[in-house]
Amino acid sequence: MTMKETFTLVATAAAGLEAVVGRELRELGYETQVENGKVRFQGDVRAIAETNLWLRAADRIKIVVGEFPARTFEELFQGVFALDWENYLPLGAKFPISKAKCVKSKLRNEPSVQAISKKAVVKKLQKYFHRPEGVPLQETGAEFKIEVSILKDKATVLIDTTGASLFKRGYRTDKGGAPIKENMAAAILELSNWYPDKPLIDPTCGSGTFCIEAAMIGMNIAPGFNRDFAFEAWNWVGKDLVQSVRDEADSKANYDVALDIMGCDIDSRMVEIAKANAREAGLEDVVKFKQMRLQDLKTDKINGVIISNPPYGERLLDDKAVDILYNEMGQTFAPLKTWSKFILTSDEQFESKYGMKADKKRKLYNGTLRVDLYQYFGERVRRSEARKVN
Ligand code: SAH
Repeated sequence: MTMKETFTLVATAAAGLEAVVGRELRELGYETQVENGKVRFQGDVRAIAETNLWLRAADRIKIVVGEFPARTFEELFQGVFALDWENYLPLGAKFPISKAKCVKSKLRNEPSVQAISKKAVVKKLQKYFHRPEGVPLQETGAEFKIEVSILKDKATVLIDTTGASLFKRGYRTDKGGAPIKENMAAAILELSNWYPDKPLIDPTCGSGTFCIEAAMIGMNIAPGFNRDFAFEAWNWVGKDLVQSVRDEADSKANYDVALDIMGCDIDSRMVEIAKANAREAGLEDVVKFKQMRLQDLKTDKINGVIISNPPYGERLLDDKAVDILYNEMGQTFAPLKTWSKFILTSDEQFESKYGMKADKKRKLYNGTLRVDLYQYFGERVRRSEARKVN
């Protein structure tokens, strides 16, 4: 096995969030190529550790083992066989073809694509390690999940480095009925005009995701600090290297930043869950949670940001109740003129119910559900004038 110096990597992202992931990668110092559903970049083993630990909006980091035309099963077999598997998979590795996807291609039977790719990898390793053909390889070691995706007759073969998706930060003890994914919440914060020096309120906080993600952004806490990753079990990833990336992350966190982050929910049970999640993330003293109806929200503070993921028809409330809630939301937020508001809902009539047209709208996907981020920007004021405006 020869150690690979550089890898072609992709950070996968939900539709609509590729640009956010691209920006995060560039801030980490990588050159990027933004594609549909993913951002491509080059990096070494350290990059695999660093991006898994630090990317807030991505789903997974995958290694691109190779790409080749695959119009027939024979081409697929030869293409997979030709890749340098011996540089990734040690003898004993577990290597399921965990996913096969065929889109707009002649090959379309995904189970067959999986089976043939598996055969090709097995044959390559048998040859490289001088194992007899016909005797199955023992697969008792660390796991390398292989994915084959064929788009317009071109196969891309990948190894997942992440394991459980990156949205699973490890702090969520319970999530209530309709949580937003942690990486989606982080992405929306990055798309907003919130900065750590501004007050932030999530008046429908549920399990507290927006508030906890904001606190982690504000304190520069690596989103992956509380979990581990598939690549950590691999023999060619040095334990010391991973530890140094984690230590560096610890030293970059700044717990002294003063933050003003509050989450409220009408449901006291959700408030308890949000508090437990903040505690799990080590942020119970940073984020305030309280039971309150959003209709009762009032504040003298200025230039803040409201981020809300209120109930929508499909999920939690019947239509009439949603209409009333959105209308009351509009009336409650209207006096907060200097505050920006970012509201995520699948309700296409949101603006008329809320009573104001959004300054900007952005299409996103919460899982498979199409949603819009309605954006209302606060009026800019000087602090000395604040009393008059609010
Ligand atoms: N983003 C959250 C999920 C929000 S679901 C998360 O990641 O967990 C919507 C939340 O709005 C629910 O928790 C519900 O209890 C709350 N809610 C509904 N009506 C409300 C009201 N009038 N005031 C405040 N919260 C309300």
